[in-house]
Amino acid sequence: MSEERYYFQSEAAELLKMMISSVYSNKDIFLRELISNASDALDKRRIECLKDSELAENENPEIKIAADADAKTLTVSDNGIGMTRDELINYLGTIAKSGTKEFLKAAKDSNTQSELIGQFGVGFYSVFMVADKVEVVSRKLGTGETFRFESDGDGSYTISEAEQRSECGTTITLHLRQSDDEGAKNYADEWTVRSIIEKYSDFISWPIVFKDSTINSRKAIWQRPDSEITEEEYTEFYKHLTHDWRDPLTHIKINAEGSTNFKGLLFIPSEAPFDLFMNPEAGGISLYINRVFIMNDCKDLIAGYMRFIRGVVDSEDLPLNISREILQDEPIIRVIRRSTQRKVFAELKKLLASDREKYIKFWTAFGRVFKEGIMQDSEHAKNILELALFRTTANDEWTTLAEYESRMKDGQEGVYCLAGRDNLSALRASPKLEEFVNKGYEVLLMTDPVDEVILNQAAWVLPEDVKKLINIASDKVSAYTEDEKKANDEKLKESESEFEPLKKIAMEILGDKLESVRPSLTLTNSPACLKDSAGGMSLRMENMLRAAGQNPPVQKRVLELNVNHPVVRKLLKMAEAGDERAGDIVKVLYEQSMILEGAVPEDAAGFVKRINELMTLALKDG
Ligand code: ADP
Repeated sequence: MSEERYYFQSEAAELLKMMISSVYSNKDIFLRELISNASDALDKRRIECLKDSELAENENPEIKIAADADAKTLTVSDNGIGMTRDELINYLGTIAKSGTKEFLKAAKDSNTQSELIGQFGVGFYSVFMVADKVEVVSRKLGTGETFRFESDGDGSYTISEAEQRSECGTTITLHLRQSDDEGAKNYADEWTVRSIIEKYSDFISWPIVFKDSTINSRKAIWQRPDSEITEEEYTEFYKHLTHDWRDPLTHIKINAEGSTNFKGLLFIPSEAPFDLFMNPEAGGISLYINRVFIMNDCKDLIAGYMRFIRGVVDSEDLPLNISREILQDEPIIRVIRRSTQRKVFAELKKLLASDREKYIKFWTAFGRVFKEGIMQDSEHAKNILELALFRTTANDEWTTLAEYESRMKDGQEGVYCLAGRDNLSALRASPKLEEFVNKGYEVLLMTDPVDEVILNQAAWVLPEDVKKLINIASDKVSAYTEDEKKANDEKLKESESEFEPLKKIAMEILGDKLESVRPSLTLTNSPACLKDSAGGMSLRMENMLRAAGQNPPVQKRVLELNVNHPVVRKLLKMAEAGDERAGDIVKVLYEQSMILEGAVPEDAAGFVKRINELMTLALKDG
C-alpha cells in the first residue's frame, strides 16, 4: 500500500489549529498525555489477554522514552494494544468526544481559551503545541500489520504501511518545533524529560524506561499514607486519571478496613466537563483489584447522582476475573458503594462548614446533578437537601435550608419556594412573589429543571422531619393568615358584582385554558398573575414534558387579576359597559402572564397584533 492522504475531520482540524497557536503556558503536559495514553494501551492489552487465552501475555510491558538532542526528536513507545489502520484514522483523525462543537464555539468566542482547553482535555492533539511533525507507528494486538500515521498539523495526515514492529504497540515520534521563544524548553533535553516524568507520571503503574532505567516509582498513590503525599501529587494523579487540565476542587481518601477492605481516592472536579449532561458516560470511578486496573467508569461503585466524582477504588476482596455483568449483584461492590456515598456526604458537609467559597464552586458545577438524588435515593434525600444551596429573595447570596429556617417567621409552616425560568432575574420578577415579599416572607428561588420535579414530589419523597417545601405557584398557597384571607374575601364579595361581567368575558375567551379567573387583593405591582391550580403541573414542567416527547394532559390554570391596578380597574368598567375591546385586553393580560412564566403565548402573532392595536390607541393623541 502506498501512502494515502486524509483530511482531519473539521472539528479535529480546528482543535489542531488551536493547539499550534496555543498560548497555554504549561506545554509540558503533552508528555503526560502521551504517557497516559501509553499506560491505557498497556491496561487494555492486559485485559484483552485475560479475556482471550489465544493471545500471548505481555512479558515485558513498558513505556519507553527516547530523546535525541541532535535530531530534536522525542519518542514515546509502548507495547500495549496498538491500533489498526482504521483505528489510527478514527482515533487520531477525528474527535469522537461529545461536546466538541460546543467547546470549539466557546473557545472561539472567549479570551480565556487556555482555560477552556483545560476543560476539554485535548489529549493526543496537545503534541502540536511542541512539535511541528508527528509520526505514529502502530501494530494492533493480534494482527501482523504495522501502519504509520504522519502529520504536520496542517489539516491533513497520511497513512502508509510501515516496517513490521516486532511486537504490538505504538511508537510516537515528535519532531520538536524550533521555538522563537527564548525561554522555551527543549523537550529533547534529558533533564527536562526526566523532571517532567517525575513530576507528572511517577505513579503510573507500568515502568517508564528512559536511558535504560525505570524512572517512575510506580507506587499506587492511593496505597501510600496520606502524610507522604503532597497536594501537587494528588493533583497530577487527578489529571492523569481524568485528562482534565485543571486542578480538582478537593480529594477524598477512603481507607476501609473490616469485613470489606478497600482503598479509595476520589476527586471532585472544579468544574463540570462539557458533556456532564449530554454524556452520562463521562466521569466515574475506576476499579482496581489489588492494584491491578480492571475497568474505567464502574457505575456500580457510586450513586448515579454522584457521577461527577472521579477517582479510583482498589479492592482486596474481589476476584481478578470479575466481569461487568456480575458486578451489580456483588455484595462487596454494594458495600463499597454505600461507603463511598457516606464518605462523600461527610466530606461535602465538612467543606460546606469550612470553606463556603469552595463549596459554592462545587454547587455551581454539580448541584444540578447532585439534587437528582432527592428523587432517586429516598434514604438520603434529607442529607442531600441539607447540602443543597438555593437562591433566595432575601439577598443575592446562596443559602442553605438551615439558614433559611433560622430566618423563618414565627408560625411559618414551611419553606416557601418558587421554581421556574432558567434565569434568576426573571424569576425574581415573578408576580407570584409579590404577596409573599410584601408580607415579609423569604422565598427560595429555584431555577433548575430538576427543582420542578423536586417541588412536585417533595411531599411524598421527603421524610417527615424535614421542613415542608411549599410551592407558592399553587393557587391554594397564600402568605395571608386565615383571618386576613377572610377579611380579603369579604372585601372581594363587595365587588363581586362589579367583577362578574369581566369574568364572563374572560372565561368565554380563555375557558379552554383557565380553570377560573379571580379578583385579587394580594397582587400589588402587577396587574395579573397566572397560578397553577392545586396539584396541577407548572407551565414549565408541562413544556419540559412536551419537549421530551410526552403528552401531558392540558393543565388549566387560575388567572388572578389585581383589582386595584389601573389597567384592571379600567377593564372592569369596559366589561360592564359591554365594550368589546375588553376581551382583547384580558387576553393580553393572560399572555403577559405566560411570558413571565417563560412561555411563548400559543398565538404569538395574535398577541403582537393586540399589543400593536393598543399602542396605536395610546399614541393616537400624542
Ligand atoms: P483520549 O485519550 O482522551 O481518548 P486522545 O486524543 O489522547 O484522547 O486519544 C484518542 C484515542 O487514541 C485514545 O482513546 C486511544 O483509543 C487512541 N490512542 C492514543 N494513544 C494510543 C496508544 N499509545 N496506544 C493505543 N491507542 C492509543
